[in-house]
Amino acid sequence: MPSQLELFGSMLIASAQTNTPKPSSRRGPVHKPQGAVYDLARFFAVINEVMFKQELAPPTMRWSRNRWRYTLGLCDVEDRVITLNCALDDARIPEVVVAGIMHHEMLHLYFGFSEGARGQRRYHTPEFRAAEKLFPGFETTERWIADHWPLRGRPAKRPRPETQSFLAYLSMMHG
Ligand SMILES: [Zn+2]
Repeated sequence: MPSQLELFGSMLIASAQTNTPKPSSRRGPVHKPQGAVYDLARFFAVINEVMFKQELAPPTMRWSRNRWRYTLGLCDVEDRVITLNCALDDARIPEVVVAGIMHHEMLHLYFGFSEGARGQRRYHTPEFRAAEKLFPGFETTERWIADHWPLRGRPAKRPRPETQSFLAYLSMMHG
């Protein structure tokens, strides 16, 4: 039985190695960073400024079309597409958790992958894991996911109040 932390890690390992389908314009709405509750573009902008010194060019950001059972987020490092599970676009999910997952996916853009001894792609290298721990919301995110994910019941789509915003707190840390 893996610990929740390992389970979290292995879910993301699996997600990073999966090729995400190409965006399709044939049916359904276009994927957009703005969800009902959370705007991924805002998470990207603040985290890029505070944690990456603006070094990351904006990727394509979108919410998944369907709710995923376990996977929290995906990053296609070659096509530069970050997709978060639309089940996270829910006011019951703390903002810090969405930020922690976004930071994880942004680290994939930053580090890309290295090749293992048998040519396999390695995403969660020791350098990646060390950088992940530098995020101010890292431990809170891991603990919340271990304790609460996946949520059951009806999603809350009301907007969250701007007060006590984790992103505002993160921006202030920067200066
Ligand atoms: Zn990952």
